[in-house]
Amino acid sequence: MINVIISGAPGSGKGTQSDLIVKNFRLKHLSTGDMLRNEIAAGTELGKQVEKLVSGGLFVPDSIMIDIIANAIQKVDNSYNGLILDGFPRTVEQAQALETILEQQGKKITVFLDIHVDEAELIERLLKRGQIYGRTDDNLETIKERLKAYSSKTQPISDFYKKKNNYYQIEGNGTIEEIYGKIEDIITACNL
Ligand code: AMP
Repeated sequence: MINVIISGAPGSGKGTQSDLIVKNFRLKHLSTGDMLRNEIAAGTELGKQVEKLVSGGLFVPDSIMIDIIANAIQKVDNSYNGLILDGFPRTVEQAQALETILEQQGKKITVFLDIHVDEAELIERLLKRGQIYGRTDDNLETIKERLKAYSSKTQPISDFYKKKNNYYQIEGNGTIEEIYGKIEDIITACNL
């Protein structure tokens, strides 16, 4: 069983790399951002509750996110070789709750991948993505808010996983293929 967390600032390529990892390692992709966007698009109660926060680049409260991920993990059938968590955990509280959720199901994190990309490059990528896909949170003001939330709340998670010795930082400025090559080597080595 391979359970991967893919972390990094908005625009670091988590989603793109997750798609490649999922294909090659047969993992279930759990993206909390995608889940929230689906709820918003479907106009559910939860969607209405989180819409303003997501479009403003602010974090959804931990209690809501922990419930969402606990449900999603529980629903994963065992035809998969494991999970890839994309966009969760984003706070130390979420990381701690995840430990308990996984422990209860006899699972643990195999590897924590931290993709690092320079801020100027992140902003350029996100603005481009906004023009192509029209994501409401890919505009300059919201991008700045999201980068601020990332460095104050998400970066401290790295220490949590460094202590567990399954933390890997990846230089994310190269091509998609180059970065994936590095990720594939790490996951393969961790799974031996
Ligand atoms: P993403 O697609 O991962 O960039 O997530 C888009 C937005 O969804 C974020 O900017 C947050 O508003 C919200 N979000 C996604 N995952 C989380 C999480 N784990 N904790 C809090 N908010 C989240």
